[in-house]
Amino acid sequence: MLGLMQDRPLLISNLIEFVDRHNGDGEIVSRRVEGDIHRYTWRDCAARARQVAHALDAEKLAFSDRVATLAWNGYRHLELYYGVSGSGRVLHTINPRLHPDQIAWIANHAEDQVLCFDLTFLPLVQAVHARCGTVKKWVALCDADKLPADSGVPGLVSYEDWIGGRPTSYDWPVFDENSASSMCYTSGTTGNPKAALYSHRSTTLHAYAAALPDVMCLSARDSVLPVVPMFHVNAWGIPYSAALVGCKLVFPGPAMDGKSVYELIEAEKVTFAAGVPTVWQMLLGHLQANGLKFNTLNRTVIGGSACPPAMINAFRDQYGVDVLHAWGMTEMSPLGTLCTLKNKHLSLPAEEQLALRLKQGRAIFGVDMKIVGGDGKELAWDGKTYGDLLVKGPWIVKEYFKGEGGDPLVRDEKGDGWFPTGDVATIDADGFMQITDRSKDVIKSGGEWISSIDIENIAVAHPAVAMAACIGVFHPKWDERPIVAVVKKPGAEVTREELLKFYEGKTAKWQIPDDVVFVEAIPLGATGKILKTRLRELLKDYKLPSLA
Ligand code: AMP
Repeated sequence: MLGLMQDRPLLISNLIEFVDRHNGDGEIVSRRVEGDIHRYTWRDCAARARQVAHALDAEKLAFSDRVATLAWNGYRHLELYYGVSGSGRVLHTINPRLHPDQIAWIANHAEDQVLCFDLTFLPLVQAVHARCGTVKKWVALCDADKLPADSGVPGLVSYEDWIGGRPTSYDWPVFDENSASSMCYTSGTTGNPKAALYSHRSTTLHAYAAALPDVMCLSARDSVLPVVPMFHVNAWGIPYSAALVGCKLVFPGPAMDGKSVYELIEAEKVTFAAGVPTVWQMLLGHLQANGLKFNTLNRTVIGGSACPPAMINAFRDQYGVDVLHAWGMTEMSPLGTLCTLKNKHLSLPAEEQLALRLKQGRAIFGVDMKIVGGDGKELAWDGKTYGDLLVKGPWIVKEYFKGEGGDPLVRDEKGDGWFPTGDVATIDADGFMQITDRSKDVIKSGGEWISSIDIENIAVAHPAVAMAACIGVFHPKWDERPIVAVVKKPGAEVTREELLKFYEGKTAKWQIPDDVVFVEAIPLGATGKILKTRLRELLKDYKLPSLA
C-alpha cells in the first residue's frame, strides 16, 4: 500500500519561491567587485532569478544545458544559482583559481553554453575564450556602463543588459527531482578533474540537513556570511539553506582579507560565518594585531582542511565564538559530519570537551559512514583503530559526470555501494569521526603510521608559527620520516631546535619530525588547501640532516 501524501518533487525553484513569499523582505548584502556595498532583498533576488530564466529561454538553452560561472560570492551569482537550476538548466560553478588550461578543459568537458563572469576574471576569459568552443554567450556580471569596450570577447554582454527588461514573473517548470541541478569539478590533484553532478533532490535534502541544530543551526534570526566560495561545492550549500530558513545573507565578494571580512561581520551584525582555516587565520591575525573583538558573531563553521586546535581555542577563549568543525567533500555536496557535543558531554571537563571538538564530528542523518581495513572489513568504533573512510547517502555521488573514472563505489557483502573518501579516520563509540590523514599524505614510518595533520597542529600551536605542512621524506631504515615546513609569523622568531623541543610531550617521541624547514610560503591549491604534491616537488632535493 502506498502512502497517500502529495507527490511533489523537491525542486530548487521551490526554495526561491518559498523565501520570496515568507521572508521576502530579508536582506542580502554584497560587497561588489567595484568595492561598494550592494543591498537588496530576497524578493528582489527572486524577481531577478526569474529574469535570468527568461534570458536563458531567449538563448534557446535546452533542459539540462550547462551555464558556467567564474564568480565571487555575490547577489548576481545567487540569482544564477536559482535562475539556472530553477529553469531546468545545470549551473556549473568553475573555480577561477584553477590553471587557465584546466578551466578551458572543464568548460569543454561540461559543454558549457553560457559563461557568466565577474570582471575580475576578464583577463582569464580573454585567455581561454577561443578554446571554449561550446560557449555561445559570454556575460560579464556588471552594469551596462561597466562593460569594457574592447574586450576581445565576441558578443560580450553585460549581465544587467542581458536580464534587464525581462518579465519578473516566470512559470518554473516542474520535472523529475532527480534531474541534474548543478555541477562542480573536483580539484583533481592527479589526472583530469572529474565532476560531481548534483540533483534537485540531493540539493534540497542537503539544504534541509545543513540547517539542522546539530549541523549549522541556521534560522531566520541569523545573519550569515559564507566566506567559503560559491565556486567550491556551492558554498557548502549555504545559498540553498539560507533560502530555506530565510536568514539574512552577507557576501564578501572578492575581499577575503582579515580587515574586509571583519568590517563586514561588524557592519552587518553577522552571527554565523563559514570558511576554510586559511581564511580564518587571516581574520584572527587582523583581530590580534589590532586588539579587536566581535560584537555579534557567535559561531563559525570551519572545514575543508583540519582545523588546528589553536584556532578553535583562539575563537572560543579570546573572542567567545563557538567553532563547529566540519568535514565533507565535493562528492558529498559537501557536508558529511559536523562536530557538536551531545547532552552527556556537557558535564565533561573543558579539556575533554576540547578533545572532542577537535574531531571532524558526527554523521548528519542522510550520511552513513564506516571505516574499513585493507581487507574491506569494517573496523571497530573505538576511537583508536583507523581505516579507510567510506560513505553512502542521497547527497553522495554514485558516479562522475560522463562516467569518468568508471564506477567509483566499493561494494559491501550485500552489494551496497559505498563511496571511498580517500581519507583515513577513526570513529569513537559515540560516532565522532576523526580524520587521521588523506590516505596519500599519511607518513609510513617503520610500518607505523604518522598523521601529518597531528604534526601540523602542534607546529601551529607555537606562537611564532603562521602555517605548517608536514610531509614524509625517504629514509633507508624507516621508509619515511616526517619533516615539517614552517612559515613564521611576520616579525616572530623560532629556531629549528626550539620548535623540535616544542613537540616533546605533545606526541610520541618517534612521531616527532626529523627536521624543520623554514619557508617563505606554503603552496596552496585552488580551494585554499595545502598542496602537498607541490611541496614535495619543491623539496625534492631535500635530504634529512641525519643522512646528509
Ligand atoms: P574537496 O572535495 O576539495 O572539498 O576536498 C575534500 C577533502 O578535504 C576531504 O576528503 C578531506 O581530505 C579534506 N577535508 C575536508 N574537511 C576536512 C576537515 N575538517 N578535516 C580534515 N580534512 C578535511
